[in-house]
Amino acid sequence: MFDCHTHSTYSPDSIAKIEDACNTAIKNNLSGIILTDHYEIDLIGSSYIFNPDFAKRKQDIENIEHKFKNKLKILEGVEIGFQPHIKDDLIKIIQKNNFDFVIASIHSVQKEFISNGKYYENKTNQEIYSNYLQEIYKSVTEFNDFDVVGHIGYVRRYGNLTDRNMNFKDYPEIINAILKEVIKKNKGIEINSSGYRDILQTPIPNYDIVTEYKKLGGEIITLGSDSHSHETIGHSFEIVKNRLKDLGFKYIAHFEKREPKFTKII
Ligand SMILES: [Zn+2]
Ligand SMILES: [Zn+2]
Repeated sequence: MFDCHTHSTYSPDSIAKIEDACNTAIKNNLSGIILTDHYEIDLIGSSYIFNPDFAKRKQDIENIEHKFKNKLKILEGVEIGFQPHIKDDLIKIIQKNNFDFVIASIHSVQKEFISNGKYYENKTNQEIYSNYLQEIYKSVTEFNDFDVVGHIGYVRRYGNLTDRNMNFKDYPEIINAILKEVIKKNKGIEINSSGYRDILQTPIPNYDIVTEYKKLGGEIITLGSDSHSHETIGHSFEIVKNRLKDLGFKYIAHFEKREPKFTKII
């Protein structure tokens, strides 16, 4: 298995050194990792600047690659924070850097950075989830240059929510529309295991959404820990893998040079 969602010190909110991340990946029997540092611009409410020097990161990888030869593949990716008005800039960054893998994530709604909590103020749960899902819908309909949709349900984690489930049955139309578009475009969704490390205790998206994706004919799924420190690389992958198998998935994917590579689930 590959951990397809990891942040190195090239993300300002991560403390994971690339070499440490690689060593943990080997310890956890992974075949590879994809570094998906954040690229994110024009946000309100974030003190970070998410604009990594990807050329320097490439150099860093090349400098340590010999240590992991035949043991671990180290691939270069990005997690873009999609916003409709920065689409052209995103396309340019992606074209310039020849990534193996692009995750399209929603971390903001109308520029407001979700994780700082303000987004939740004076809204019902219904509004919080619906507005967020609308942004994902825009990302999959208005944008093409991505491989998987990141953590559908990220918004469940923050704020003062009374219900952190974002159940499929409560938002069936919009979630169905998102999943159908993903499948139509031959893209995939990621199963983000970071929820097992916090209050959610489920992956993001939760299994009810993954079940619908399968029902609609979705095949491309990647697994990611969303690690911001090296210790959590590959976290809870066994639990998630077994559940995916139970749901009828035969393969887990990772991407190289923007092409999906499938590994049979055993
Ligand atoms: Zn994210
Ligand atoms: Zn991430």
